[in-house]
Amino acid sequence: MKSHAKAVVIGGGVVGCSVLYHLARAGWADVLLIERSELTSGSSWHAAGGFHTLNGDPNVAKLQAYTVQLYREIEELSGQSCGLHLTGGVMMADSPERMDFLRLAHAKGRYLGMETELITPSEAKAMFPLMDETNFVGAMWDPVEGHLDPSGTTHAYARAARKLGAEIELRNRVVELTQEADGTWNVVTEKGTVKAEHVVNCGGLWAREVGRMVGLELPLLAMEHMYLLTEPMPEVEEFNRATGREMVGVIDFKGEIYTRQERNGILLGTYEKAAKPWSEHETPWDFGHELLQPDIDRISPSLEVGFRHFPALENAGIKQVINGPFTFAPDGNPLVGPVQGLTNFWCACAVMAGFSQGGGVGLALSNWMVNGDPGFDVWGMDVARFGEWATLRYTNAKVRENYSRRFSIRFPNEELPAARPAQTTPLYDVMVRDNNAVMGDSWGLETPLWFAPKGTEPKDIVSFHRSNDFEHVGGEVRAVRNGVGVTEIANFAKYAVSGPGAAAFLDRLMTNRMPKTGRIVLSPMLNEFGKLIGDFTIARAGEERFMVWGSSAAQVYHMRWFEKHLPKDGPRDSEVRIHRFDQTLVGLSIAGPKSREVLEKLVDTDVSRGAFRFMDFREMAVAGAPSMVNRLTYTGDLGYEIWMPPAYQRRVYEGIKEAGAEFGIVDFGMRALLSMRLEKNFPTWFRELRPIYGPFEGAMERFVKLEKNDFIGYEAAAREKAKGPRLRRVSFIVEALDADVMGDEPIWAKVGKKDFGTVEKPHGFGAPRFTAGGAAVQRSEGGGASREDPAHIRGIADGEWRVVGWVTSGGYAHFVEKSMAQGYLPAELAEDESEGLFEIEILGQRRPARINLLPPFDPEGERMRG
Ligand SMILES: Cc1cc2nc3c(=O)[nH]c(=O)nc-3n(C[C@H](O)[C@H](O)[C@H](O)COP(=O)(O)OP(=O)(O)OC[C@H]3O[C@@H](n4cnc5c(N)ncnc54)[C@H](O)[C@@H]3O)c2cc1C
Repeated sequence: MKSHAKAVVIGGGVVGCSVLYHLARAGWADVLLIERSELTSGSSWHAAGGFHTLNGDPNVAKLQAYTVQLYREIEELSGQSCGLHLTGGVMMADSPERMDFLRLAHAKGRYLGMETELITPSEAKAMFPLMDETNFVGAMWDPVEGHLDPSGTTHAYARAARKLGAEIELRNRVVELTQEADGTWNVVTEKGTVKAEHVVNCGGLWAREVGRMVGLELPLLAMEHMYLLTEPMPEVEEFNRATGREMVGVIDFKGEIYTRQERNGILLGTYEKAAKPWSEHETPWDFGHELLQPDIDRISPSLEVGFRHFPALENAGIKQVINGPFTFAPDGNPLVGPVQGLTNFWCACAVMAGFSQGGGVGLALSNWMVNGDPGFDVWGMDVARFGEWATLRYTNAKVRENYSRRFSIRFPNEELPAARPAQTTPLYDVMVRDNNAVMGDSWGLETPLWFAPKGTEPKDIVSFHRSNDFEHVGGEVRAVRNGVGVTEIANFAKYAVSGPGAAAFLDRLMTNRMPKTGRIVLSPMLNEFGKLIGDFTIARAGEERFMVWGSSAAQVYHMRWFEKHLPKDGPRDSEVRIHRFDQTLVGLSIAGPKSREVLEKLVDTDVSRGAFRFMDFREMAVAGAPSMVNRLTYTGDLGYEIWMPPAYQRRVYEGIKEAGAEFGIVDFGMRALLSMRLEKNFPTWFRELRPIYGPFEGAMERFVKLEKNDFIGYEAAAREKAKGPRLRRVSFIVEALDADVMGDEPIWAKVGKKDFGTVEKPHGFGAPRFTAGGAAVQRSEGGGASREDPAHIRGIADGEWRVVGWVTSGGYAHFVEKSMAQGYLPAELAEDESEGLFEIEILGQRRPARINLLPPFDPEGERMRG
């Protein structure tokens, strides 16, 4: 074994081998993979080998599409077959809600370069004749699905990596990891120590143990998973003989079943409700190529549905039941990227669908390690998306919930109950018990969403359509706009940045100029490629003291970036201290035309219009509690954000309610706040603002001071401005019916034959396109389900109409009484406010939409500045 390597990858499952291959392909030949036993000695060897592109997160879906496309490349390079069967697959809807879900998924596919198609149950039966189609109302066909040989695929990655110079050390366990002062890692193995610049945790079933070697408790847990293989079935053989094709894969959501042809029989797996974790606390090192005891009783409810939906299966002999463990993160997506607080320690774990996602994970991670950036939008799988609240027990409850809901519909207004409440503010009881709040989970913190009338059950009726919250959220919005309301804002990220170097540090990270003492600015933050990686409110509390607020969910992500850019060993004047408050600082916001009068009653400071102006910051006592007050709110109305230690929050809240009583003050929740931001055309972080957009694309130019010319991302931003942005964020008013946009809907434009070749959502790598009848589909063994008739390709054109963009978020703007959406369009279309030019596809229906350049509420910002 070599004694030095640029990078050591721990674990030779499909993910570790993919990471190794991608690192070598990116030019790092001096890389070493260390495997405890043989390759595929964790989950990888007993996988069912299915792959597909569909994922709730379009960015992860893109990675899955990349993974599937990659197999041809590694087969060619390695000479090792992956055993690909690109059969295509159908997803079966048994209810109108599930059909809505498929319509949404299909609509997303329109700008992701996917060629899904909505089909009838009879059409699906023609591809998988074992089904009783009368159980279903519709289906979605996806040509880019299939199955492969898990071991062959893992070895293909490994061989391809070796060909590019990477090395693999088998039968040698990593037992300890230590780091020297200069950052060098000592990777201590059973056979000696390797010094490495970088370490990657691809430990799969043992990823927690590898994490613990560096003091990390990674939020992942293995679950038992069963699939069964039948004896050869005459129905299958007959279909193959008659058509010369293999049967397609099927997902039956109702039965929580996936099924497909395996040799002359059928493979059927379940994600059963009675989900069972495996090795909840630690994974034994001596677990190897073993299977777990099958438990048919546990999956029998799913099998019962399966036998009804696929009657021929009931008579099939069961050849084998496989039960094996594999790992999940609390939300079911992988944990990838650098770990905050550790230098050059990387994760690629909790990859629950290694054969759909492994390639994309390897690409993202290798880009990140080699170029300093994943190269595209990987937030959905960034290890930084979980905070310290994602403990072992939290993870256990959430992973079980996620597993048992794998085939359940997640509605846009649905809050999942497991592991809650995790964190609460001092107002939790007041909100829940006294105010009848419907609470939501905001990065582990309970946050009021809306307030149900007294005497009713505070509960959302989950739906893709407008629901029971609609009139009450509307009531909260109107009460704020016409008078005053109060809401909790503890669920923001809050940081103090201080020290002699604080101003210079922030100036370098942020695109805006730093404010004078007592003033506030809004500022995006860019990466070196000029893409949006943050959006902050920054107040200067003193010459060397700043308060910074941002998106709650991005706290670890942003801390990781801040720490990376802290000045190293400089003179004293470069010293910068960053403190993340988390819930040691909480907040309340009051907003509406009467909010100043409320504040005036609570303070001994002059907060009159002239003395406390829009975008001012002051430290003052509010209701006798030491507080920080920002003269702005996300409602876009006259309003204030008031920040205080939690011990004072209740006192301030009670003071506000008392002072506001004469103005009829109401409590309002996050949904009202988000509705109000829509009618102001304000963007949100992670929806409108993401690392795939530049600041001019995101319409953030007011906050980008190019004349500063020394911030990170300056060159790229200057180029973007000089060339003109390719895309542009816009707001729409939509003629919606009883459902508003949720995000990710396609935007159609009547542009005749004009070709907008760039309508695919940007993601950073060559867009993998799969052409029905093209090379990818033709790989299907036995002709499979390849559908060469171009009529089956539902492209992105329809007569004069083209899909030209995508929605990022939206909803109902209650005060202006309009359904609104925000999204991205090619810049040349983004200023045309004509009627009849755009349509937005909501639940399969194309609804007329019109660009709205000025915010429909208070377009001149008079209320906000008032
Ligand atoms: C029954 C079943 C069916 C499945 N079906 C599918 C499917 O159809 N499609 C799909 O995409 N996925 C499927 N999966 C999931 C898939 O198997 C996983 O996503 C994938 O195997 C994860 O790969 P990995 O490389 O992350 O982890 P693993 O395969 O667990 O590999 C980790 C490797 O790291 C090594 N290792 C750990 N710690 C150390 C150390 N300290 N020193 C040296 N080596 C170490 C281990 O020996 C192991 O070889 C299935 C899983 C199961 C159990």
